[in-house]
Amino acid sequence: MMLLHVCCADCSLKMIEAIKSDPEMKEEELNLYYYNPNIHPQSEFTARQIAVQKIAAENNIKVIIANWTPGDYFQALEGLPEANRFNKLNRCRLCVRLRLTQTFKFAAENKYSFVSSTTQTSNYMPIGVILKIGEELAQKNGVEFYHPPQINCELKTSGFYKQNYCGCVYSLLERMGEKYGTNKRGVNY
Ligand code: SF4
Repeated sequence: MMLLHVCCADCSLKMIEAIKSDPEMKEEELNLYYYNPNIHPQSEFTARQIAVQKIAAENNIKVIIANWTPGDYFQALEGLPEANRFNKLNRCRLCVRLRLTQTFKFAAENKYSFVSSTTQTSNYMPIGVILKIGEELAQKNGVEFYHPPQINCELKTSGFYKQNYCGCVYSLLERMGEKYGTNKRGVNY
């Protein structure tokens, strides 16, 4: 049985397709785990949650929803100076580690054989960094980390809410900066 950590519906569908296309995994029972304390604000967390539940129902896959606990995210970034929070590699590494740590914990407690994560479709972090975190946690928890042989990141999906930023408040400010020319500390009125 595999526990797939998911961050949004779009990335979930890409990973579900990748898992089901792997002959060694296509028969494995799959559950989705929505644990994303990084997502800001709560309305965004809820919009993505509803979209994930919609695609899970359409694909007849069980989904487990963890509460929105933003304090977990800010605690994970605690040692990172504010200036470095706009360095994606620094903050995303901590964010992925936080979400995978909780996913592995839940998987070990509930006797899953495999853990995987939609963070593997991310263009925010090199895949090598994500795999290293996954493999380290796999060893620690005695649950295998699964990386599909192929992920079609160009897969076009529709029919549900799609976000236009990665999730955290920093990525939201970066997105606003690209779109409206604002600085990283907020909107210039
Ligand atoms: S950009 Fe995405 S992966 Fe990186 S810290 Fe923010 S929410 Fe997490």
